[in-house]
Amino acid sequence: AKELGANDYYFYNSDLKVRLERKISLTTKLAKALEENDIKVYFQPLIDLKSGKITGAEALARWQTDTSRFIRPDEFIEAAEESGLIGTLGDHVLNKSCENLRKWHDAGFENLTMSVNLSVKQMNDQNLVTKTKNALKKYSLKPTDLVYEITENVAMKDFDATLALFKELSGLGVKISMDDFGTGYSSLAYLKQFPLNSIKIDKVFLQNIPENEKDNNLIKGIVWMAKSLGLNVVAEGVENKFQSEFLREIGCNGCQGYYYSRPLPEDEFFDYLKAVRRD
Ligand code: C2E
Ligand code: CA
Ligand code: CA
Ligand code: CA
Repeated sequence: AKELGANDYYFYNSDLKVRLERKISLTTKLAKALEENDIKVYFQPLIDLKSGKITGAEALARWQTDTSRFIRPDEFIEAAEESGLIGTLGDHVLNKSCENLRKWHDAGFENLTMSVNLSVKQMNDQNLVTKTKNALKKYSLKPTDLVYEITENVAMKDFDATLALFKELSGLGVKISMDDFGTGYSSLAYLKQFPLNSIKIDKVFLQNIPENEKDNNLIKGIVWMAKSLGLNVVAEGVENKFQSEFLREIGCNGCQGYYYSRPLPEDEFFDYLKAVRRD
Protein backbone atom coordinates (compact mmCIF):
# COMPACT_ATOMS: atom_id res chain seq x y z
CA ALA A 1 0.00 0.00 0.00
CA LYS A 2 0.99 3.60 -0.61
CA GLU A 3 2.58 5.30 2.36
CA LEU A 4 0.76 8.29 3.79
CA GLY A 5 2.66 11.55 3.66
CA ALA A 6 2.11 14.30 6.20
CA ASN A 7 -0.10 16.18 3.75
CA ASP A 8 -2.28 13.18 2.98
CA TYR A 9 -2.86 12.66 6.66
CA TYR A 10 -3.86 16.25 7.14
CA PHE A 11 -6.21 15.97 4.17
CA TYR A 12 -8.01 12.86 5.47
CA ASN A 13 -8.31 14.34 8.88
CA SER A 14 -9.85 17.63 7.79
CA ASP A 15 -12.09 15.84 5.29
CA LEU A 16 -13.48 13.75 8.12
CA LYS A 17 -13.93 16.85 10.25
CA VAL A 18 -15.80 18.65 7.47
CA ARG A 19 -18.06 15.65 6.98
CA LEU A 20 -18.78 15.40 10.68
CA GLU A 21 -19.52 19.09 10.95
CA ARG A 22 -21.83 18.90 7.96
CA LYS A 23 -23.69 15.97 9.53
CA ILE A 24 -24.15 17.76 12.86
CA SER A 25 -25.36 20.91 11.16
CA LEU A 26 -27.78 18.91 8.98
CA THR A 27 -29.21 17.22 12.07
CA THR A 28 -29.64 20.54 13.89
CA LYS A 29 -31.33 22.07 10.86
CA LEU A 30 -33.58 19.06 10.38
CA ALA A 31 -34.72 19.17 14.01
CA LYS A 32 -35.53 22.86 13.54
CA ALA A 33 -37.32 22.18 10.25
CA LEU A 34 -39.52 19.56 11.91
CA GLU A 35 -40.37 21.95 14.71
CA GLU A 36 -41.17 24.79 12.36
CA ASN A 37 -43.25 22.68 10.01
CA ASP A 38 -40.88 23.01 7.06
CA ILE A 39 -41.10 19.33 6.20
CA LYS A 40 -43.87 19.15 3.63
CA VAL A 41 -45.63 16.08 2.33
CA TYR A 42 -46.10 15.95 -1.43
CA PHE A 43 -48.42 13.56 -3.22
CA GLN A 44 -47.97 11.78 -6.53
CA PRO A 45 -50.96 10.06 -8.15
CA LEU A 46 -51.09 6.32 -8.77
CA ILE A 47 -52.89 5.39 -11.97
CA ASP A 48 -54.83 2.27 -12.88
CA LEU A 49 -53.54 1.34 -16.35
CA LYS A 50 -56.78 -0.24 -17.57
CA SER A 51 -59.14 2.60 -16.71
CA GLY A 52 -56.66 5.47 -16.60
CA LYS A 53 -58.19 6.49 -13.28
CA ILE A 54 -56.39 7.64 -10.14
CA THR A 55 -56.43 4.92 -7.49
CA GLY A 56 -54.41 6.68 -4.83
CA ALA A 57 -51.30 8.64 -4.04
CA GLU A 58 -47.81 8.12 -2.70
CA ALA A 59 -46.72 10.48 0.06
CA LEU A 60 -43.21 11.87 -0.50
CA ALA A 61 -41.44 14.08 2.02
CA ARG A 62 -39.92 17.41 0.97
CA TRP A 63 -37.82 19.75 3.05
CA GLN A 64 -38.56 23.36 2.29
CA THR A 65 -35.50 25.46 3.21
CA ASP A 66 -36.89 28.71 1.82
CA THR A 67 -39.70 29.70 -0.54
CA SER A 68 -38.06 28.20 -3.61
CA ARG A 69 -35.59 25.58 -2.40
CA PHE A 70 -36.57 22.03 -1.55
CA ILE A 71 -34.27 19.28 -0.40
CA ARG A 72 -35.16 15.80 -1.66
CA PRO A 73 -35.51 12.92 0.80
CA ASP A 74 -32.45 11.08 -0.47
CA GLU A 75 -30.45 13.85 1.20
CA PHE A 76 -32.15 13.84 4.60
CA ILE A 77 -33.80 10.46 5.31
CA GLU A 78 -30.38 9.01 6.13
CA ALA A 79 -29.57 11.91 8.47
CA ALA A 80 -32.99 11.50 10.06
CA GLU A 81 -32.30 7.80 10.61
CA GLU A 82 -28.86 8.34 12.12
CA SER A 83 -29.95 11.15 14.42
CA GLY A 84 -33.12 9.46 15.63
CA LEU A 85 -35.32 12.15 14.09
CA ILE A 86 -36.90 9.59 11.75
CA GLY A 87 -39.57 8.83 14.38
CA THR A 88 -40.80 12.42 14.42
CA LEU A 89 -40.49 12.70 10.64
CA GLY A 90 -42.40 9.46 10.11
CA ASP A 91 -45.19 10.48 12.50
CA HIS A 92 -45.50 13.79 10.66
CA VAL A 93 -45.71 12.10 7.23
CA LEU A 94 -48.25 9.52 8.44
CA ASN A 95 -50.45 12.17 10.04
CA LYS A 96 -50.33 14.55 7.06
CA SER A 97 -51.06 11.65 4.74
CA CYS A 98 -54.10 10.51 6.71
CA GLU A 99 -55.34 14.08 7.11
CA ASN A 100 -55.23 14.64 3.35
CA LEU A 101 -56.76 11.27 2.51
CA ARG A 102 -59.67 12.13 4.85
CA LYS A 103 -60.12 15.39 2.93
CA TRP A 104 -60.14 13.59 -0.43
CA HIS A 105 -62.61 10.96 0.80
CA ASP A 106 -64.89 13.73 2.10
CA ALA A 107 -64.76 15.41 -1.30
CA GLY A 108 -66.13 12.26 -2.93
CA PHE A 109 -62.95 10.40 -3.81
CA GLU A 110 -63.78 7.57 -1.41
CA ASN A 111 -61.81 4.87 -3.17
CA LEU A 112 -58.41 6.50 -3.03
CA THR A 113 -55.65 4.83 -1.04
CA MET A 114 -52.54 6.35 0.51
CA SER A 115 -49.07 4.85 0.14
CA VAL A 116 -46.51 5.74 2.79
CA ASN A 117 -42.81 4.80 2.77
CA LEU A 118 -41.17 3.12 5.74
CA SER A 119 -37.44 3.16 6.51
CA VAL A 120 -35.43 0.63 8.54
CA LYS A 121 -35.73 2.43 11.86
CA GLN A 122 -39.46 2.93 11.39
CA MET A 123 -39.84 -0.81 10.80
CA ASN A 124 -38.00 -1.48 14.06
CA ASP A 125 -40.18 0.95 16.01
CA GLN A 126 -42.10 -1.11 18.56
CA ASN A 127 -44.91 1.43 18.42
CA LEU A 128 -45.41 1.35 14.65
CA VAL A 129 -48.61 -0.71 14.80
CA THR A 130 -50.08 1.44 17.58
CA LYS A 131 -49.13 4.63 15.75
CA THR A 132 -50.73 3.28 12.60
CA LYS A 133 -53.96 2.35 14.38
CA ASN A 134 -54.09 5.76 16.09
CA ALA A 135 -53.62 7.72 12.88
CA LEU A 136 -56.31 5.69 11.09
CA LYS A 137 -58.69 6.15 13.98
CA LYS A 138 -58.02 9.88 14.26
CA TYR A 139 -59.00 10.43 10.63
CA SER A 140 -61.71 7.73 10.50
CA LEU A 141 -59.92 5.74 7.83
CA LYS A 142 -60.03 2.00 7.19
CA PRO A 143 -56.81 -0.02 7.45
CA THR A 144 -57.30 -0.99 3.78
CA ASP A 145 -57.00 2.71 2.84
CA LEU A 146 -53.34 2.58 3.82
CA VAL A 147 -50.44 0.98 1.95
CA TYR A 148 -46.98 0.75 3.47
CA GLU A 149 -44.12 0.70 0.98
CA ILE A 150 -40.99 -1.10 2.11
CA THR A 151 -37.91 -1.63 -0.04
CA GLU A 152 -36.57 -5.13 -0.53
CA ASN A 153 -33.28 -4.26 1.12
CA VAL A 154 -35.00 -2.98 4.23
CA ALA A 155 -37.39 -5.94 4.40
CA MET A 156 -34.60 -8.48 4.11
CA LYS A 157 -32.41 -6.97 6.87
CA ASP A 158 -34.13 -9.16 9.45
CA PHE A 159 -36.41 -11.62 7.74
CA ASP A 160 -38.14 -12.94 10.87
CA ALA A 161 -38.81 -9.49 12.31
CA THR A 162 -40.16 -8.30 8.96
CA LEU A 163 -42.39 -11.33 8.60
CA ALA A 164 -43.83 -10.80 12.10
CA LEU A 165 -44.50 -7.10 11.44
CA PHE A 166 -46.03 -7.75 8.01
CA LYS A 167 -48.33 -10.37 9.52
CA GLU A 168 -49.46 -7.96 12.19
CA LEU A 169 -50.06 -5.12 9.74
CA SER A 170 -51.83 -7.27 7.17
CA GLY A 171 -53.85 -8.81 10.00
CA LEU A 172 -55.17 -5.32 10.64
CA GLY A 173 -55.94 -4.92 6.95
CA VAL A 174 -53.11 -2.55 6.06
CA LYS A 175 -51.68 -3.31 2.62
CA ILE A 176 -47.99 -3.90 2.01
CA SER A 177 -46.08 -3.12 -1.15
CA MET A 178 -42.53 -4.24 -1.90
CA ASP A 179 -40.79 -1.11 -3.15
CA ASP A 180 -37.84 -0.86 -5.57
CA PHE A 181 -38.57 -4.40 -6.64
CA GLY A 182 -35.68 -6.09 -8.41
CA THR A 183 -32.91 -3.86 -7.10
CA GLY A 184 -32.21 -5.49 -3.74
CA TYR A 185 -29.85 -8.31 -2.95
CA SER A 186 -32.50 -10.78 -1.99
CA SER A 187 -33.87 -14.10 -3.03
CA LEU A 188 -37.30 -14.32 -4.59
CA ALA A 189 -38.35 -16.93 -2.04
CA TYR A 190 -39.72 -14.22 0.22
CA LEU A 191 -42.47 -13.44 -2.28
CA LYS A 192 -44.50 -16.46 -1.20
CA GLN A 193 -43.82 -15.96 2.51
CA PHE A 194 -44.54 -12.28 3.04
CA PRO A 195 -48.24 -11.29 3.08
CA LEU A 196 -47.78 -8.77 0.26
CA ASN A 197 -50.45 -6.92 -1.64
CA SER A 198 -48.26 -5.57 -4.41
CA ILE A 199 -44.80 -5.05 -5.79
CA LYS A 200 -43.44 -1.84 -7.21
CA ILE A 201 -41.08 -2.25 -10.16
CA ASP A 202 -38.16 0.11 -9.77
CA LYS A 203 -37.76 2.88 -12.32
CA VAL A 204 -34.35 1.62 -13.47
CA PHE A 205 -36.13 -1.15 -15.38
CA LEU A 206 -38.21 1.36 -17.31
CA GLN A 207 -35.51 3.75 -18.41
CA ASN A 208 -34.47 1.85 -21.54
CA ILE A 209 -37.70 0.49 -22.91
CA PRO A 210 -38.49 0.01 -25.78
CA GLU A 211 -34.93 0.15 -27.22
CA ASN A 212 -33.53 -2.47 -24.90
CA GLU A 213 -35.04 -5.86 -25.69
CA LYS A 214 -33.63 -7.37 -22.52
CA ASP A 215 -35.30 -4.76 -20.31
CA ASN A 216 -38.59 -5.26 -22.15
CA ASN A 217 -38.43 -8.97 -21.43
CA LEU A 218 -37.33 -8.46 -17.86
CA ILE A 219 -40.36 -6.29 -17.16
CA LYS A 220 -42.68 -8.76 -18.89
CA GLY A 221 -41.22 -11.54 -16.76
CA ILE A 222 -41.61 -9.61 -13.52
CA VAL A 223 -45.23 -8.73 -14.30
CA TRP A 224 -46.05 -12.30 -15.26
CA MET A 225 -44.38 -13.75 -12.16
CA ALA A 226 -45.96 -11.31 -9.71
CA LYS A 227 -49.41 -11.73 -11.19
CA SER A 228 -49.10 -15.52 -11.08
CA LEU A 229 -48.53 -15.13 -7.36
CA GLY A 230 -51.69 -13.06 -7.03
CA LEU A 231 -49.88 -9.78 -6.51
CA ASN A 232 -50.72 -6.38 -7.86
CA VAL A 233 -47.96 -4.89 -10.01
CA VAL A 234 -47.20 -1.19 -10.07
CA ALA A 235 -44.46 0.43 -12.16
CA GLU A 236 -42.77 3.64 -11.06
CA GLY A 237 -40.93 6.23 -13.13
CA VAL A 238 -43.31 6.27 -16.11
CA GLU A 239 -42.25 9.31 -18.10
CA ASN A 240 -43.85 8.83 -21.50
CA LYS A 241 -46.83 7.45 -23.34
CA PHE A 242 -44.89 4.59 -24.84
CA GLN A 243 -43.91 3.23 -21.44
CA SER A 244 -47.46 3.51 -20.18
CA GLU A 245 -48.88 1.67 -23.23
CA PHE A 246 -46.25 -1.01 -23.06
CA LEU A 247 -47.07 -1.60 -19.40
CA ARG A 248 -50.78 -1.76 -20.05
CA GLU A 249 -50.30 -4.25 -22.89
CA ILE A 250 -48.26 -6.63 -20.77
CA GLY A 251 -50.87 -6.56 -18.00
CA CYS A 252 -49.21 -4.35 -15.42
CA ASN A 253 -51.92 -3.08 -13.05
CA GLY A 254 -50.81 0.36 -12.02
CA CYS A 255 -48.22 3.01 -12.61
CA GLN A 256 -46.85 6.27 -11.40
CA GLY A 257 -44.56 8.87 -12.92
CA TYR A 258 -43.95 12.31 -14.39
CA TYR A 259 -45.97 11.37 -17.49
CA TYR A 260 -49.09 11.68 -15.31
CA SER A 261 -47.89 14.09 -12.66
CA ARG A 262 -44.92 15.09 -10.58
CA PRO A 263 -45.33 14.83 -6.80
CA LEU A 264 -47.51 17.83 -5.87
CA PRO A 265 -48.03 19.95 -2.73
CA GLU A 266 -51.31 19.09 -0.96
CA ASP A 267 -53.35 21.97 -2.42
CA GLU A 268 -52.19 21.32 -5.96
CA PHE A 269 -52.90 17.61 -5.61
CA PHE A 270 -56.44 18.35 -4.44
CA ASP A 271 -56.95 20.68 -7.42
CA TYR A 272 -55.55 18.00 -9.72
CA LEU A 273 -58.08 15.46 -8.37
CA LYS A 274 -60.98 17.82 -8.94
CA ALA A 275 -59.76 18.78 -12.43
CA VAL A 276 -59.41 15.14 -13.47
CA ARG A 277 -62.94 14.40 -12.21
CA ARG A 278 -64.36 17.16 -14.41
CA ASP A 279 -62.70 15.78 -17.58
P1 C2E B 1 -39.26 5.82 -3.74
O1 C2E B 1 -40.19 5.36 -2.70
O2 C2E B 1 -38.74 4.80 -4.69
O3 C2E B 1 -40.02 7.01 -4.49
C1 C2E B 1 -40.03 7.22 -5.86
C2 C2E B 1 -39.12 8.36 -6.25
O4 C2E B 1 -39.18 8.53 -7.67
C3 C2E B 1 -39.52 9.71 -5.66
O5 C2E B 1 -38.32 10.43 -5.37
C4 C2E B 1 -40.28 10.37 -6.81
O6 C2E B 1 -40.30 11.78 -6.74
C5 C2E B 1 -39.49 9.87 -7.99
N1 C2E B 1 -40.27 9.85 -9.24
C6 C2E B 1 -41.60 9.79 -9.40
N2 C2E B 1 -41.95 9.74 -10.70
C7 C2E B 1 -40.80 9.77 -11.40
C8 C2E B 1 -40.50 9.73 -12.80
O7 C2E B 1 -41.36 9.67 -13.67
N3 C2E B 1 -39.18 9.76 -13.14
C9 C2E B 1 -38.18 9.83 -12.21
N4 C2E B 1 -36.93 9.87 -12.63
N5 C2E B 1 -38.44 9.86 -10.88
C10 C2E B 1 -39.73 9.81 -10.48
P2 C2E B 1 -38.16 11.27 -4.03
O8 C2E B 1 -39.45 11.96 -3.71
O9 C2E B 1 -36.91 12.07 -4.18
O10 C2E B 1 -37.93 10.17 -2.93
C11 C2E B 1 -36.76 9.40 -2.89
C12 C2E B 1 -36.88 8.28 -1.89
O11 C2E B 1 -36.92 8.79 -0.55
C13 C2E B 1 -38.17 7.48 -2.05
O12 C2E B 1 -37.97 6.53 -3.08
C14 C2E B 1 -38.35 6.89 -0.66
O13 C2E B 1 -37.61 5.69 -0.54
C15 C2E B 1 -37.74 7.94 0.23
N6 C2E B 1 -38.81 8.73 0.88
C16 C2E B 1 -39.54 9.75 0.39
N7 C2E B 1 -40.41 10.22 1.28
C17 C2E B 1 -40.25 9.47 2.40
C18 C2E B 1 -40.87 9.44 3.70
O14 C2E B 1 -41.79 10.22 4.01
N8 C2E B 1 -40.42 8.50 4.58
C19 C2E B 1 -39.44 7.61 4.26
N9 C2E B 1 -39.07 6.70 5.16
N10 C2E B 1 -38.83 7.61 3.06
C20 C2E B 1 -39.23 8.52 2.14
CA1 CA C 1 -41.99 4.33 -2.48
CA1 CA D 1 -39.45 2.90 -5.52
CA1 CA E 1 -36.23 4.35 -4.43
